[in-house]
Amino acid sequence: MSTSESGKTRPRLIWTTTLMFSLTALGAVTLVPWYGLTHGYSASAWVAFALFMVFASMSITAGYHRLWAHRTYEAHRSVRLFMALWGAAALQNSILVWASGHRTHHRHVDDNDRDPYSAGRGFWFSHIGWMLRDHPSGQENFSNAPDLLRDPIVMWQHRWYVPIALGMNIVPAALLGLVFGNVIEMLLLAGLLRLVLGHHFTFFINSLAHTWGRRPYTDENSARDNDVLAVLTFGEGYHNFHHKFQYDYRNGVRWWQYDPTKWLIATLSWLGLAENLKRASNFQIQQAMIAMQFRKAREKLARAGGNVEKWKALLEHEYQHFLSVLEQWKALKSSLYAETRRHLAYHWEHALVRTRIREFEYRLKMQRKRLALLTLQLS
Ligand SMILES: [Zn+2]
Ligand SMILES: [Zn+2]
Repeated sequence: MSTSESGKTRPRLIWTTTLMFSLTALGAVTLVPWYGLTHGYSASAWVAFALFMVFASMSITAGYHRLWAHRTYEAHRSVRLFMALWGAAALQNSILVWASGHRTHHRHVDDNDRDPYSAGRGFWFSHIGWMLRDHPSGQENFSNAPDLLRDPIVMWQHRWYVPIALGMNIVPAALLGLVFGNVIEMLLLAGLLRLVLGHHFTFFINSLAHTWGRRPYTDENSARDNDVLAVLTFGEGYHNFHHKFQYDYRNGVRWWQYDPTKWLIATLSWLGLAENLKRASNFQIQQAMIAMQFRKAREKLARAGGNVEKWKALLEHEYQHFLSVLEQWKALKSSLYAETRRHLAYHWEHALVRTRIREFEYRLKMQRKRLALLTLQLS
């Protein structure tokens, strides 16, 4: 422990991590442009940069995050091995450490003492500061990851993490460099620049995606949906949805939302390399959005002056409607489960239930539109 200006004790600095982040970032902002200005980069080095960026970053998003931390789908061994190797190339620690810490983040989100990268402790801390010191909130504890402790690929990668990570950062880039006759270019672009940009794009999820953006699904935590971040992070910018429905393999849940990671997982499933893709139901998603709309409308009403009795009554009427649809949906669900358990469900019954569920979803969708209009009129 050392002592800071404020007299408070600060956890010990982790030199290896601090040097790794500082030197790689320094190299990326000095060596990379200097070499570009004095020698120039060939197209092959830029293509390798883009390709390695996709491999390493998506091994983090589709692998470390959605596969290992959240178990949103199951993947073939070859896919897991590929993601374990290229995920190590991203230099964000082993799958075991990353995924276990991330489960703690979801469980204790915004708790400054227990969330390892709590956004409440400021931008710097949640972005990178949490890794530079031996903070009590960042202590490794794998008791939340018994499944990973049993996974041979995860444990192999954890055991040999340093040689795998170093090897994956140097060998593929150097080999391509030998083939194309531009080893230095490859190491600088596909190795160094790719590594540093990949670091900070991922770190944005913990910093910016907890402070900048909208909250359509929940305001119980600081996570935000942000389209700009989604572009930089291969779809992880839809972080508000993700914190509400962490078991869903999608983060950008609407078909048009930019989430290449969900497209990759869907493609792997189509190829037979992934299965059991988990999704939140449309109904649950609409339910979360409507609950948020009610909250916002009530807040607006509370702030609005003048005669708001009419609006209050309208809102209350809509709320009762919402509760009654929820009740009917729950009853339908439990009767469906009971039927399935007794193996009495016939195909026509299933079809009937599906039709009714779609009808409930439609009623919620219409209600969402009415609420949006109502809120608009209030402002
Ligand atoms: Zn997550
Ligand atoms: Zn988060």
